[in-house]
Amino acid sequence: MRVVFVTGGNKGLGYEAARRLIANGYKVYIGARDRERGAAASRALGACFVQLDVTDDASVRSAASEITRIEGHLDVLINNAGISGGMVKPEDMSVEILKKTYETNVFGIVRVTHCFLPLLRKSIAPVIVNVSSGLGSFTRVLDAEAVESKVHSAHYNSSKSAVNMLTLQYAKSLPEFRVNCVDPGYTATDLNHHSGPQSVTEGTDAIVRMAMIEKDGPTGTLSDRHGRQGW
Ligand code: NAP
Repeated sequence: MRVVFVTGGNKGLGYEAARRLIANGYKVYIGARDRERGAAASRALGACFVQLDVTDDASVRSAASEITRIEGHLDVLINNAGISGGMVKPEDMSVEILKKTYETNVFGIVRVTHCFLPLLRKSIAPVIVNVSSGLGSFTRVLDAEAVESKVHSAHYNSSKSAVNMLTLQYAKSLPEFRVNCVDPGYTATDLNHHSGPQSVTEGTDAIVRMAMIEKDGPTGTLSDRHGRQGW
């Protein structure tokens, strides 16, 4: 049975991705920063739970040690935890706001990937899925017809552009891995006060598809639920 770890798995897209992967026969660990919320979600899902705050080195190290002790390896890492950072007017944009958003959305992915790489290297077909956004895609933001061109959020959008390039760099430097990023699409979750038109099931189509790829699957791609997308 392949072992998956989903960060930010206590609600939203992470929770739904965990539910669908369990239904597909995967053993799923969810990471959540709050123990009570994480434990309740894992009970409801039939998942395993490890406490993890992606902004905290010690908690990420300890989560990796716990899964190492129990499983000895990890097949699929889904870097899903993310924050919107709220809506910020251009005149209020500051380094502090950028740092706060990047701490979770960008440095969180690096922190988790760094600690989990040794575990992933023990898998016969290691897979990493980074949950990005169409808002980080230059192709989408520059397309006047696309909804992404209408959302001005320098801190969030640039954090997801960074996720895209990080994904490409990991994919190129880890050829034995499959490393891809996905755009869930605008989905009703707490992140956007449930304003998105998609259900969480639709929003996790790309996450689940890329989590389930085999050794000969794509690497270094950005896709949404309809398939490959431009950067
Ligand atoms: P959500 O419902 O707000 O869930 C976000 C998850 O991330 C929660 O479990 C949250 O935990 C967790 N999280 C936040 N900061 C964390 C930290 N420091 N350490 C560990 N976990 C942390 O939002 P969502 O829509 O499912 O978002 C999931 C991912 O999809 C994000 O990366 C987001 O940027 C991306 N995305 C979403 C949409 C959309 O339309 N919803 C579109 C494109 C991309 P708590 O419960 O403790 O806050």
